[in-house]
Order: sequence, then C-alpha cells, then structure tokens
Amino acid sequence: MAIKRILKKTSVVFIILLILFITGCSQDAETISDTEEGIDDIVQDKEEEEEIITSDIDLQKIKPNEAGQIMVLMYHSIGEEEKEFARTPESFRKDLEKLYETGYRPISLKDYAEGNIDTPSGFSPVVITFDDGNKNQFNIISEEDETYTIDPKSAVGILTDFHEAHPDFPLEATFFVNDNVPFGQKEYLDYKLNYLVEQGMDIGNHTANHFDFTNCTDSKSIEHEIWTVKEKVDSIVRGYEVNTLSLPYGSKPKKDESLFQYIVSGQEQDYHNIAIVEVGWDPYKSPYDMDFNPSGIHRVRASDLQEYVKGTGIYDWMDRLEKGERTKFVSDGNPKTVTVPEDYKDQIDLEKIGERELVTYVLEDSE
Ligand SMILES: [Zn+2]
Repeated sequence: MAIKRILKKTSVVFIILLILFITGCSQDAETISDTEEGIDDIVQDKEEEEEIITSDIDLQKIKPNEAGQIMVLMYHSIGEEEKEFARTPESFRKDLEKLYETGYRPISLKDYAEGNIDTPSGFSPVVITFDDGNKNQFNIISEEDETYTIDPKSAVGILTDFHEAHPDFPLEATFFVNDNVPFGQKEYLDYKLNYLVEQGMDIGNHTANHFDFTNCTDSKSIEHEIWTVKEKVDSIVRGYEVNTLSLPYGSKPKKDESLFQYIVSGQEQDYHNIAIVEVGWDPYKSPYDMDFNPSGIHRVRASDLQEYVKGTGIYDWMDRLEKGERTKFVSDGNPKTVTVPEDYKDQIDLEKIGERELVTYVLEDSE
C-alpha cells in the first residue's frame, strides 16, 4: 500500500512536473516571441516617444498650427517696369528675400492641394505661381553645344539663383501656360518644359486660348481648352501630367454654373485638375480645413502697387499674417502629423487629413 501510494505520489509529482515543464517551455517560447515583438515595440515606442518629446518641448516655442492659412502668390510678367501685371527682377528678388527672412518656404501647388506638407517645423509654406507663360518668365539668352544660358533676369533665372544661394528655400513654382509657344522661344520650348519638370517645378494649365469661361454655355469648348494644353505638355514632357489650372481672368461659367464641373474633370476627354486657382486677393485655407476647396484656391497678388493691390498685396498680407489678422499656417515639421492648438481642432476635416495623425496641444498663454 505504502509503496503504491509513493508510486502514485511520484507519478502525480512527475505529471505535475511534466506539465510545468511543457507549459514552462511554451511560456518560454511565448516570452521569446514576446521579447522579439517587444523590442520592435520598444524601438517604435521610443521613436514615437522621441517625436512626441521633441514636439512637446517645441510646441510652446514654435507654436505649430496646421489649420492656418497659406499664401499662394500670383505673378505674371517679370519686366522692366513695375505694372499691374509686371514685377521687376529686383522686386521679385526682394520678394524672395523677404519671404525667406520671414520664415516662408515654397511648396508645390500640388502638394498644397493634397496636404503633403514637409516644410520644416516653425516655418510656413508658400506657393509661387506664374500665369501666361511670358518669355520674361523663362528666357534663354544663348545656346552653345546644347548648353543653355538662362537669363538671370527672368523668373526661372532668379528662382534658381536664389535656391542655389539658399538651398533650404526649395525650388518650387508653378507656371500656367497656354497653347501658344509658352515662354516665347519656339526653338527652346522642349528644353524649357523639360527643364522645369526636371528641376522639380510644375507646369499648369491656363487654357489653350486664355479662354474666358464667363459666358460659356457648352462643355465641349471647356474640355477642348483644357485637354489641348494637357496633351501638348504630355507630348513634350513624356509622362508629366498637367493637373493644376489657373482660371484666365479668374473667370467661371456664369450663364450655366453647372459647367464648372468640366473645368475640374473632363467627361469626353481624360483630365482631372486637383487644384484650380483664382485671381487673388487673400491667403487661402489650410488643406485640412473643413471648408478647403481645391477647386477654388485664392491667391495673393505678388505686387506692392497699392493702386492695384489695395492692401491685399504680398507685403500687406505678410504683415497682416504676422499681426494675426488671419491665422498663419505654421508647420510642425512632420508630414505624417497634422498639429493644431486645441482650439482649432474642430476646423480640421479628418477625411482631408487621411492617413496623417492629428496632434492637438494646449497653447499656453505666453503673455
Ligand atoms: Zn492669364
């Protein structure tokens, strides 16, 4: 009896030990895999933590606000004399200098429309646009063995010089062209359009014939006006899609407003404009704002001739934004997050921020 009991006890103990061993092993296995996952998690947590810590430290200092407004600058000619639609090379250089000093950094119109903003933290994005494809926007002064000399007084010359001197001022600008010879020199057209795209700048649509949409009553002519420019550019810069448009005269169909949809997208022809800009008078909404309309982007006149700008020119708005008359967009430096002070949270459209993460913070009163 006693022996049997001992045996029984032993076997019970053995079984228990065996169970413990097995579970122990599997626990060990789990622990190992846990640890492996754990390391990744920890690394990720640490990265996130570091990001959050960085923003935590800087938030009160840099005060990011990605619900704020952005200036889309409207230029036309770069010419000898300052006029309603002409800026001198000196003035244009001065504009870039002032933008740079005031903490503006260019982004492309496409990136603005799509909310892809990688402007460094504490800086404000600005969009630079040119209408009409004038020769003085992109002029070639000589060519030798396929080496082209760009007129340093033309817009492209000034922009590239400025970017070379200030590499942290990205070379971003959109040139809206028609179906004439954009930038005037037929023999250099291929070179010019390809150069712009290679340098990371954009070509936009200004309609084939500088078309006034106001009295338009049929969709066919709208589609023709838009598709022609898209096709032309595509035939010269293979694979480049013209998908931004500047309304000539800022005109929209007035007799039949429903025709506006054809300016956005073609039905017979294959095109879709992700950004449509108007003729300007003020900065426009954050791309994450509830009311941001990519088909109705306002612009600011890049001029300081008060008889034309009447307090709404580039310098007026730089000033007004600085004074807080409108909220200025200030980047958090992270394209994956959209950072806004708590009070601006309700203005943000979660659908528009898409995959990005919304970060809010309480702005402490510094005064
Ligand atoms: Zn125009």
